[in-house]
Amino acid sequence: MNKREAEYYEITENLVARCNLCPHQCAIPPGGEGICWARKNEDGTLYAQNYGRTTSLAVDPIEKKPLFHFRPGSEILSVSPNGCNMRCPYCQNYTISFKKAVTREITPQELVSLAKEYNTPSIAFTYAEPIIWFEFIKDTSKYAKEKGIDLVMVTNGFISEKPLDELLEIISAMNIDLKSMSSEYYHKVLKGDLEVTKRTIEKASAIIHIEVTNLLIPGDNDTEIEDLSRYLASIDKTIPLHISRYFPHNDYDKPPTPIDTLKKAYDTARKHLYYVYIGNAPIEGCEDTYCPDCSNTLVERSGYTVKITGINKDKCSNCGRKVDFVL
Ligand code: SF4
Repeated sequence: MNKREAEYYEITENLVARCNLCPHQCAIPPGGEGICWARKNEDGTLYAQNYGRTTSLAVDPIEKKPLFHFRPGSEILSVSPNGCNMRCPYCQNYTISFKKAVTREITPQELVSLAKEYNTPSIAFTYAEPIIWFEFIKDTSKYAKEKGIDLVMVTNGFISEKPLDELLEIISAMNIDLKSMSSEYYHKVLKGDLEVTKRTIEKASAIIHIEVTNLLIPGDNDTEIEDLSRYLASIDKTIPLHISRYFPHNDYDKPPTPIDTLKKAYDTARKHLYYVYIGNAPIEGCEDTYCPDCSNTLVERSGYTVKITGINKDKCSNCGRKVDFVL
């Protein structure tokens, strides 16, 4: 594959490239790489050296992303870059996010052809952080559009404003991690920025379908769910919130989130938001969707089995309220 020059950078003194794709704004000297390893400076030209290099390729249920309100029950071709621009110490995908992993090459055309071959209506850029695959996603979008395939990102939302605006023209849905409501925690522990992720949520929710995931970690963020739900409700009460059970990974060895903590978080979030789900834990009823007006069960879920039980065309089969789904 031909080398792809990176977008969103400028050359400063001594041929140092400043990458503007995300707010880290890495200053990359000739021969050097950015924090995410996605970009390399070769004699004053910054290249997207991860272009078309993937660690993982699989067909998943779309509920696994998780996306519960976007084409429910469909399958999605999922593909991952190698690397990340944040450093969450509990990352469950740290082997492909923080370590240089084995990759294989795939072109945008091949990726779209695979989606056609496997009959998946959408492609997800997921597992590791897709923001650092900006050029590859952008190029894939040209072919995907021709074939009527939607593109989805599962992301930490840590991206500069201009490239985000470009992505929002080509991406149909995002699941965005909102990992904490503490700016200090974002800076010190995650090496990200709360305000940047909030900006991404706010901008994206105005243009495309979004869902938000919060990994609930005892002692880290389990007292923030009220704040977090209120914040999302202030944008739009219909944003689905996935509260995900933490399990020990990478540098974190504290025990998994207790089921009682998850249940309490669910009840708290439901006071503010119409659609709240518990992930990574089998708690009866906490994966189903209920009509906000009449409480009719619209969609029943168990694991990745999905039954659309209470939707007639695009309305609640009981009260006729228009449902908040992309069907
Ligand atoms: S995208 Fe990567 S290279 Fe660019 S600023 Fe962010 S971490 Fe640095």
